[in-house]
Amino acid sequence: MASYETEHASDDTQRTSERPRRPDLSSFFSMMSEITTDSPQERNRPGAVPVPADMSTAYRTLADAFRIMQRDNENADTDMMEQMIESLMSSAERPPTEVKGVEEEWIAQLERVSVKKLKKDADCPICGNAFSEDPHPLLVRLPCHKTHVFDLECVRPWLLLNGTCPMDRIDFAKQIRERRQKQLEEIKKNAAPEDEEEEWDGLYG
Ligand SMILES: [Zn+2]
Ligand SMILES: [Zn+2]
Repeated sequence: MASYETEHASDDTQRTSERPRRPDLSSFFSMMSEITTDSPQERNRPGAVPVPADMSTAYRTLADAFRIMQRDNENADTDMMEQMIESLMSSAERPPTEVKGVEEEWIAQLERVSVKKLKKDADCPICGNAFSEDPHPLLVRLPCHKTHVFDLECVRPWLLLNGTCPMDRIDFAKQIRERRQKQLEEIKKNAAPEDEEEEWDGLYG
C-alpha cells in the first residue's frame, strides 16, 4: 500500500513538472494591461491609444500559447482551438484599432463554479485538463450556456481580446457595447427632448 502511494505521488509530481496545466501567460497579461486600462478616462487619454505593433504581439502571444495547449492536449476540441488560433492570427495580421474584448470587471463577476458540482470527467475546453485533477481549480461559467465552463485562467486572456464564448461564439463584448450605446441614447433623449434649432443657433451664436 505504501509503495503504491509513493509511486503514485512521484508519478504526479513528475507529471506536473513535465507538463504544466497551461503555458505561462504572465507576459501576455502585462502586455494587456499596457494596451487596455481599466478606467474609461484613462482609455480616452490620447497617449493611451494602443500601438498596433503591441496589439499584434498580444494576439500572436495568445495564439502561440493556444498552439502549445492544443499540442499537449489529447482530448482537445481541435476545431474550436483551430478557429480560436486562426482568429487570433488574423487579428495579429490586421490589428484592430481598439481591443474588442470584455473588461476585467466583467470577467471578475462571472459565475464561479465548484468542481464538485460538475461531472467527474468534465474538462476545460481550452486546455483539455480535467477540472478534478487541478489541485486549485478556479472555474467560471459563461452566461451563454450552463455547460460552458472553463478554467478562469484559460478563458480570461481570450475574453480580454475577443469577448466571445469560444464554444458558441456569443459575443458578450458586442452585447455590452450595444447596451451601453442604448443607455447613452436614452440619456441623450432625456437630456434634450427637442429640438434641433437650438443646437443650430448654438453653433453660430
Ligand atoms: Zn483550461
Ligand atoms: Zn457559450
